[in-house]
Amino acid sequence: MSKVKNLIVGCGFSGATLARKIVQERKEKVVIIDIKDHIAGNCYDYRDNNGICIHKYGTHIFHTNLKPVWDFVSRFTKWYPYQHKVKGLVGGQLVPIPFNLNSLHQVFPKSLANEIELCLLEKFGFNKKVPILELRKTNDKDLTFLAEYIYQKIFLEYTLKQWGMKPEDMDPAVSGRVPIYISRDDRYFQDKYQGIPIEGYTGLVLKMLDHPNIEIKLSTVFSKEMEYERLFYSGPIDEFFEYKLGELPYRSIKLDFLEFPYSKFQEAAVINYPCNYDFTRIGEYKWFLNNKSDKTVVSYEYPEEFKIGKNERYYPIVKEESQTLYNKYLELAKGTPNIYFLGRLGDYKYYDMDKAVERAFNLFEEI
Ligand SMILES: Cc1cc2nc3c(=O)[nH]c(=O)nc-3n(C[C@H](O)[C@H](O)[C@H](O)COP(=O)(O)OP(=O)(O)OC[C@H]3O[C@@H](n4cnc5c(N)ncnc54)[C@H](O)[C@@H]3O)c2cc1C
Repeated sequence: MSKVKNLIVGCGFSGATLARKIVQERKEKVVIIDIKDHIAGNCYDYRDNNGICIHKYGTHIFHTNLKPVWDFVSRFTKWYPYQHKVKGLVGGQLVPIPFNLNSLHQVFPKSLANEIELCLLEKFGFNKKVPILELRKTNDKDLTFLAEYIYQKIFLEYTLKQWGMKPEDMDPAVSGRVPIYISRDDRYFQDKYQGIPIEGYTGLVLKMLDHPNIEIKLSTVFSKEMEYERLFYSGPIDEFFEYKLGELPYRSIKLDFLEFPYSKFQEAAVINYPCNYDFTRIGEYKWFLNNKSDKTVVSYEYPEEFKIGKNERYYPIVKEESQTLYNKYLELAKGTPNIYFLGRLGDYKYYDMDKAVERAFNLFEEI
């Protein structure tokens, strides 16, 4: 490959957003490569034989309150106005997740549910999200009863399965995210802008990269021999430095895709199984774009440890040790002029899609 002005590693949302910004606003050329044989990175989706849009790396729902991000991505797609709802098998019933006032009334007898609801409203107010660990700290007997119920039936085993550790051993930035929602709103997200790209995420990213000054090279692994004026790297930062300080830990997921000969498998796009099973959740894909078929496809998610060469990196493990190690890689990165890291793997940070786009916007402003 001859010397390129801008080399971007990774055709996911991060790399694709940056590529588009550079060609559009700087009028410079970009070569974007990916080790995979497809674009869109972790958000890649495709239509199967039944016309159902499958998310290869697990269910993805676009949601944001960031208007500039929404406006940018909406230039490349129309949206199916999907609003995400999740249910969880709790005490033998499928209840809305996050646990909310509807869930409360489903699992408890009326008088008890009414009493707890009043306490929640008095203590926190309506439409508030309260992290479970915070609820556990109150000294009201009804609220601690509720906190203990949710902790045991939803939070504890789910966390053990998902992360392989107890909630107490995790960074509160992750464990604190799981709330109880004092509301009757059953949606998983309350963001102003939500939806699924009508042509899928792959279609969206394809349009983003569709520009005469963007050259895409798939099935191409980054090598130090490649020549560039500037490199933007959205692959794993530890891999870039050949793991010289050690490996950054990740959690992975094994997705088991199953096809069933009936039109619907379950009563929501995603059902969580906090207890009893080895899988954490089942996603059913036809919900997202309302695909019609007399067959249906679901994926069972089995969390597992990430091992290089065995499976994919999914979630960074947010712990003090891993953050310290990442900071050391960041120091190394500061000594590499004209090389910039971004994205969930480059920044070693969980980003929703909108935050990955925002991060690419911010990096673009820096260069
Ligand atoms: C299970 C799961 C569910 C999610 N659900 C949602 C959701 O519902 N809503 C939401 O907003 N976000 C969701 N996300 C987050 C979303 O996937 C990320 O925001 C998004 O993938 C970030 O894009 P990225 O470009 O930073 O990373 P990626 O999409 O991972 O792109 C990085 C690319 O770099 C390539 N690469 C790596 N190393 C090299 C190399 N050496 N040479 C060449 N190429 C390389 C990789 O192949 C990859 O394609 C979810 C994430 C996970 C794990």
